[in-house]
Amino acid sequence: MTGVVESDIEIETDCRVAERFDIPGGIISYLLKRNRNINPQIRSRYWVSDIVGCQRKSYYKQLGFEQEELISDSTIESMWDAARGDLLHKLTYAYRWRELDVEYPIPLQSGKIAVVVGRLDMYDWRKKEIIDLKTTKFIAWQMKNGFIPNPEDILQVQCYDIVFSQIIPVESLIIVYADMSDIVAYKVQRRNLREWLRTKIQNLENCILDSKVPIGEVSGLCKYCKYQTRCHNDGEGFIGKPLSIPKPNSEFTKEGDW
Ligand code: SF4
Repeated sequence: MTGVVESDIEIETDCRVAERFDIPGGIISYLLKRNRNINPQIRSRYWVSDIVGCQRKSYYKQLGFEQEELISDSTIESMWDAARGDLLHKLTYAYRWRELDVEYPIPLQSGKIAVVVGRLDMYDWRKKEIIDLKTTKFIAWQMKNGFIPNPEDILQVQCYDIVFSQIIPVESLIIVYADMSDIVAYKVQRRNLREWLRTKIQNLENCILDSKVPIGEVSGLCKYCKYQTRCHNDGEGFIGKPLSIPKPNSEFTKEGDW
């Protein structure tokens, strides 16, 4: 470099400038997960994807109720769906910034702090753009029938805006829908959902505290829900024949129940 010769710079090579430190928490939790040594359900930790969906489902998940087996999970079609989703998910490699996790604190009335956890699919740092990928089927048909863009997907990416803009600059939000033959993108308006998020979490926390099961938000997504039997039995939720089966030894499969 001009005007600078190596002898002008005093380079500190003393090892004492580095001190022993804690192993980063992310590495510890990765090792715990790899060894299936996952801590018991940590309360007051909510994924954005759960918050924007059915509150009853989120309540069950938060309380650590065991998920049921979907009858469709063992069909070839369903297995292909999962494999296809994995293949399409490789689209996220289009950006170097991908699968970024962050926790957003929500102060509760009790004085405790809940956290909302978000995971970004992709982030374009040049445009400061959050990109959420949805792998699906029959995009053209869904668009024609008004199922795309889905309101929950819109809410989800708007929540990512709140959660991630505390650590990275965000200027635009994009949802990308992809199936095996089509790909389509939507730009989503930014919205301040801070209060909405806080209220949602507080309501869920209140339900947990009072042992009050929230009313089921029945929709076409119930057929993918792994709490259908529980929801059906609790009332004010899923009606019809559940398409999921409680796992052996669960409280619903004890003699007399089935
Ligand atoms: S079955 Fe439907 S209403 Fe019941 S918990 Fe699941 S998503 Fe909610």
